[in-house]
Amino acid sequence: HLPPIANEAYQHYAPGSPERAAQRAALEALERETPVRIPCVVNGREIYDGAELVEQRMPHDHRRVLAVYRPLDEALVREAIRGSLEARQRWSRTPADERAAIFLKAAELLSQRYRYRVNAATMLGQGKNVWQAEIDSAVETIDFWRFGVKYMREIYAMQPPENVPRGVWNRLEWRPLEGFVAAITPFNFTAIGANLPSSPAMMGNVALWKPSDNTELSTWMVFQILREAGLPDGVIQYLPGNGPVFSGVCLTDRHLAGLHFTGSTRTFHALWQQMSAQLSAYRNYPRIVGETGGKNFHFVHPSADLDWVVPHTIRGAFEYQGQKCSATSRMYVPRSLWPPLRDRLVSEMQQIRVGAADDFTVFMSAVIHRRAFERIRSYIERVRAASGTAEVLFGGECDDSRGYFIQPTLVVTTDPQFVTMKEEVFGPLLTCYVYDDDQVEQALDMAADDSEYGLTGAIFARDRHAMMRMTDRLRDAAGNFYINDKCTGSIVGQQPFGGARQSGTNDKSGSLLNLLRWASARAIKESM
Ligand code: GLU
Repeated sequence: HLPPIANEAYQHYAPGSPERAAQRAALEALERETPVRIPCVVNGREIYDGAELVEQRMPHDHRRVLAVYRPLDEALVREAIRGSLEARQRWSRTPADERAAIFLKAAELLSQRYRYRVNAATMLGQGKNVWQAEIDSAVETIDFWRFGVKYMREIYAMQPPENVPRGVWNRLEWRPLEGFVAAITPFNFTAIGANLPSSPAMMGNVALWKPSDNTELSTWMVFQILREAGLPDGVIQYLPGNGPVFSGVCLTDRHLAGLHFTGSTRTFHALWQQMSAQLSAYRNYPRIVGETGGKNFHFVHPSADLDWVVPHTIRGAFEYQGQKCSATSRMYVPRSLWPPLRDRLVSEMQQIRVGAADDFTVFMSAVIHRRAFERIRSYIERVRAASGTAEVLFGGECDDSRGYFIQPTLVVTTDPQFVTMKEEVFGPLLTCYVYDDDQVEQALDMAADDSEYGLTGAIFARDRHAMMRMTDRLRDAAGNFYINDKCTGSIVGQQPFGGARQSGTNDKSGSLLNLLRWASARAIKESM
């Protein structure tokens, strides 16, 4: 029997609290261990030698090396594929309850023994403040594992209708896919790193895991927790570094059964193209599950209550430096509300503290790496160069002398097609477009149709008729839609996450729908 499945409770880390002291101690302990050495792990064998080690540095202090890892190479990936296919023989026939027990145990280990340690790795390695680390590397990872087990059992219970003719017995067998799954995971959520190889594995599949180059420390800890919980060797192979070699080998292998991806739209296109070029070489059509970019909106109706709009917008746009796929990045505001909204946003932004991720008083820290820093800065420069059509109202300062710091930045534009209304910036930059109060429908058309993305969006209104009209008009514009709430922060088991259009295949992580992609049903009819 399953223990009751519920969302893991957040810890608050209030000043003087025992959890703050424990988190502080874990940060200090981890810093004493740095640089941590991280291997490739193939069939349970830890491989440290044979290639030049690569560094993972801290975003908020790029002089400091947090970890060094042994990057994958072609031979190792091939060996990992062979090994995973062998491990599959047993794992795919391991009873579901035994598989479930491993992931439930991993959730307990993370909740009770390793929480502060993995949070510390996420804070130092990915530049999250303590609360952003807590909701990600602790709570969401645990939720993915626990709810995954619940959904797995619900899938196995799904059977054909029972009113069949006498003398016939029908049933559905939920088989794992035939082959291995390639899981390529992003820097911005440790939990997504954990989930992308775990959800196929939970369903009896084997996976090769290529974590982001910027999460090696936290994902290595997650992988060790899974092993400690009893995951057999070879079920998940841990292969950091060198994405092109990883995808080059995995995606051209005859036994590729699926790609589980979160990352940029551009990379996803390249991977999909690589796969489509050789469809006839595969034994099965690989499942493709991808979550990519976003250009997520807050749409403010003239009836909106600014007491809701202001805090949700500050959080949606600037938490984790705007580096969530779901982050608020374009906003539509009626002219009547613009002056008070602008002033209140600016006054809140003046209060935002930006600094080292392990400083418990900061709201924002540094962006992930130099490339991100340069990209975001170049968007700010384009705003500055566009005098007349767009203007920086607040922020815009960038300083990479010690870490990759970018101040929270507020932009207003008179052009709804302006570059920062269209392109994903993936940083702390929010662009507002002000519409006339009698042009709500036209503004809705823009919010609904002007973006090639369709990940998240939110509307703010008190008028319930307007709310319903907007919800209908914006139907295709967001896979996760919020009413009087920010467009970030989906919770496993509560708001299944994913979007359509160029934002992904909308297979809804944190729900049964995602796990269903990692099973292949066999319908069995038996005459009796
Ligand atoms: N699920 C997260 C949220 O709702 C975003 C995940 C992502 O950035 O990929 O904020």
